[in-house]
Amino acid sequence: MNHIQGSLIYEGKAKRIFECENPDRVLIEFKNDATAFNAKKRSEFKGKGRLNCKISAALFKLLELNGIPTHFLELHSETFIIADKINVIPLEVVIRNIATGSLCRETPIKQGKLLSPPLLDLYYKDDELGDPILTERRLKLLDIITPFQMEEVEKITISVNKILKEYFDSLDLLLVDFKLEFGLNSVGKLVVADEISPDNCRFWDKKNSDPKERILDKDRFRQDLGGVINAYEEILKRIENDSSSAH
Ligand code: UDP
Repeated sequence: MNHIQGSLIYEGKAKRIFECENPDRVLIEFKNDATAFNAKKRSEFKGKGRLNCKISAALFKLLELNGIPTHFLELHSETFIIADKINVIPLEVVIRNIATGSLCRETPIKQGKLLSPPLLDLYYKDDELGDPILTERRLKLLDIITPFQMEEVEKITISVNKILKEYFDSLDLLLVDFKLEFGLNSVGKLVVADEISPDNCRFWDKKNSDPKERILDKDRFRQDLGGVINAYEEILKRIENDSSSAH
């Protein structure tokens, strides 16, 4: 179906949201801009928008097939998807299978430690405050989500992790950790929103044991390792090879 791009509703660090002719839907454009460390580090990578758009669309489809409610409706073009218009819950829900990143910077937990069961960390989504980590009690005080919705968010995140971890394992990739965002659509249904791409997931190549070379995600930009686009292309290539071999 053709969707006419209406006016810009919101511009974030890596995406733009446009109105659609259907008021319950939006067009989401994936940009080439990259930011890290709460936007203190910025760059642009030609082709990143297209890669993240295609990767996200494929992963949202996989989740929907597995019964996970998401905002994704359809891939619109190379850099646009159509999605439910949602009210974003200002929470960043991180789930970790292997310790790295902020967990190892902020605690004495050793890099590479297997986390079983996976560790679920909640952050308050607020750039000005630097997305602070939340305790259960702070979350309660903030009053941004009901206890029932929070229970659903946790259940869905654990299921998403299980689905994606197994899927990426079959592509010879370790799903180290990732961040999800949630929202409520026009009928008040809780859905997984935002994107699922190497910008918000960490992937390590199982076929490579070198701790730097195996990184196939935004850590290549965060750590100035180079080869950012090659890494994102490798993720899409493995997803596409998998779907072509499935038919
Ligand atoms: N993440 C994200 N957005 C953020 C913070 C983290 O998408 O604002 C993702 C990140 O890509 C990683 C996971 O969440 O997959 C855990 O990130 P971490 O807390 O280790 O923070 P970082 O080391 O990136 O500062």
